[in-house]
Amino acid sequence: MEHHDLLAGLVRLHVLHHAAEHEIYGQWMIDELAHHGYRLSPGTLYPMLHSMERKGYLTSREEYQGSTRRRLYRATDFGREGLAVAKRQLRELTGEAMNDGTCTSKQR
Ligand SMILES: [Zn+2]
Repeated sequence: MEHHDLLAGLVRLHVLHHAAEHEIYGQWMIDELAHHGYRLSPGTLYPMLHSMERKGYLTSREEYQGSTRRRLYRATDFGREGLAVAKRQLRELTGEAMNDGTCTSKQR
């Protein structure tokens, strides 16, 4: 993914957003992100999912369909909380970056 460092946070939020609504799995998430213009390989997304689980944002379970196994992820309460905080900040940034560029901070 180009500009990985900048976009990785947005991708994580996108993952959390969907994982808060329903269970997701890797390939579904890759397809979903592709619709939004993110081209992620499994080699990028899977480590991201694993680290989000390690940090407590996601929880997972394995599901077997015949001989194929897939891991399904859901957002934890901690993940939902993080998403809510990030959405507030995203709204803040969107207000500033997408409008006239004027800093809306009350501190100045
Ligand atoms: Zn989406």
